[in-house]
Amino acid sequence: MSAFVIAPPPQVCAPVAGGGLFPVRRIFCVGQNYADHAREMGGDPQRNPPFFFTKPADSLVTEGADAPYPSLTQNLHHEIELVVALGAGGANVALADAKALIFGYAAGIDLTRRDLQAEAKKAGRPWDMAKGFDASAPLGLIRPAGACGDVGKGRISLSVNGAGRQQGDLAEMIWSVAEIIAILSTYVALAPGDLIFTGTPAGVGAVSAGDLLNGEIEGVGEVTTRIA
Ligand code: MN
Repeated sequence: MSAFVIAPPPQVCAPVAGGGLFPVRRIFCVGQNYADHAREMGGDPQRNPPFFFTKPADSLVTEGADAPYPSLTQNLHHEIELVVALGAGGANVALADAKALIFGYAAGIDLTRRDLQAEAKKAGRPWDMAKGFDASAPLGLIRPAGACGDVGKGRISLSVNGAGRQQGDLAEMIWSVAEIIAILSTYVALAPGDLIFTGTPAGVGAVSAGDLLNGEIEGVGEVTTRIA
């Protein structure tokens, strides 16, 4: 007999290229991990220690579904990012062991209420409502690591209604995927099912209801969503 006092939430899942579902546990995100984006946000493009924030697992939008334009913002921004899907976990993971935790990679979009983020930064308040709102994390198919190219380099880009907005290269990341895993694992014990958004290149900008967003990462895949 079940002891749940209300119905438990459904397990959030992300489809895997070639079939199957990846059960999602948590979503971690890295801030300002490309020097040109750090500059456009008024940050420091130096190799300072990375900083992290989170989104709820159920903020994911998969299978090309629409992302509704969120409430309480006049400045919704796109950020195309390489997403790492962990198949194994650990705390204080050694740099040399970090890549062994990876199940696969996907292209994702870190949708951001930029106006609320700017207010939060100014007031020294948390970013949660700027970053972790409903449908804030569109994600493409997760491709198993063995089927991906070398994610240490490769074109990463995003277009809005077919017009190029963001373009960069994974080689421009300030902190590598392995370094991000190792450092993040000193803050929390990572676990199978965790996703990590690894930061965005320059060119972030506003989108409107009706816009079609298409992101692409060489050797990894695509992510598509329409702002509804
Ligand atoms: Mn981001």
